[in-house]
Formats: sequence, structure tokens, C-alpha cells
Amino acid sequence: MEIKVLKDILGANEQIAGINRQLLDSNNVFAVNLMSSPGAGKTSLILETIKRLKGKTRIGVIEGDVSSSLDAEVISKEGVPVVQINTGGGCHLDANMASSALGNVPLKDIELLIIENVGNLICPAEFALGEHKNVLISSIPEGDDKPFKYPLIFHKADAVLINKIDLLPYLKFDTEAFSQVIKGMNEEVEIFPLSCTTGEGLVQWVSWLMAQMGKG
Ligand code: MG
Ligand code: ZN
Repeated sequence: MEIKVLKDILGANEQIAGINRQLLDSNNVFAVNLMSSPGAGKTSLILETIKRLKGKTRIGVIEGDVSSSLDAEVISKEGVPVVQINTGGGCHLDANMASSALGNVPLKDIELLIIENVGNLICPAEFALGEHKNVLISSIPEGDDKPFKYPLIFHKADAVLINKIDLLPYLKFDTEAFSQVIKGMNEEVEIFPLSCTTGEGLVQWVSWLMAQMGKG
């Protein structure tokens, strides 16, 4: 019975996500669902991406948080349109929340929409929002065992960004083994080791992103 209820919820979510996707497509907006655990560096990555793509594409951001608008305030200083979603305790965004937020995004003025999901490696993987690509940030301090513990989100990711590689000298993290495990679960995945602190690897990430948008 419980499983049926969950299936119905996810089915309804897929339907709304499809409508969101059509709305994005009809406005020629490419959308990325950015997921990670709390503190992996989603907001920092968005800031660095905005800086590197200035003049190359027009970006908008939807910020998903349990509460507060701290990240949205930081991002709006970069001069891009930001819409905040507060889930009021909810641990993931769903297509319905994304739909309401999309009503406030100036879709005609942007080409790339980055949706920062709630920091969580579990349910964001279950709820499509209407995105074109799923991007997962996994950071060095989290440890290299996360693909074993949270396989679904690694399976769903189109790209995995290994963030905070500047910390590799201080922490135990086998980047090679980590990448091999992910590739074993998900052949198509692209993996980008990078650091938002030193800037290493960010060029490769933004080039991939532009290529996905057909601007490569
Ligand atoms: Mg954030
Ligand atoms: Zn959740």
C-alpha cells in the first residue's frame, strides 16, 4: 500500500516535470538540477559558473533551501535573476515547487537555468523537476564511499563534480577509485575534479556545460 502511494506521488511529479520541461524548451532555456549533500559547494559552484560564463550565456538561478534566503542573496549580487524556494522543512524540491518558481523566472531573458536543490543525497534523486541534466557535486571531505551509500543519485547524474580537490593533500580520498566506482554504475557519466577555491578544473566543467547547451 505504501509503495503504491509513493508510485502515485512520483507519477504525478513526473507529469508536472514534463510540463516544466515543455515550458523551458518553448523558451529555449536549458535547465540543470544541481544536487549534493549540505556544504559540498553548490552555491560556490554557481557563483564560479556565473563568473566564467558572463558574456557567453545569460543565466538564471532557482535556489532551493529548507529555510532562509542567504544563498539567493549572495547569488543576486552577481546580477543574475534569482528565485528562492523555501521548502519549509521539506528535504527536496519537487516538480510542483519548481513549477511555481518558474512562474517568477524571466525565462525570455535567460538561456541557462541552474536549480540548486536542497542539500541531500537521498530524495532529490527521486523527484524530476523538468531539468535537462542532473549534476551532482561530491566533495573531498565527504569521503569516497558515497556512491556505495547513495547509489541512486550517482546513477541519475549526468555529471559528477568532485569538488574541493585542493584538500586532497590533507584528506583520504582516492579520486581514481571513486571515479571507477561511479563509471561502473553509470557508463555515460562525466566526471570533473575541480576546486572552487583554486579554480582548477572549472574550465572543463563550464566547457562541458556549454557543449550540453549546444554552444560548445
Ligand atoms: Mg547553497
Ligand atoms: Zn526529501
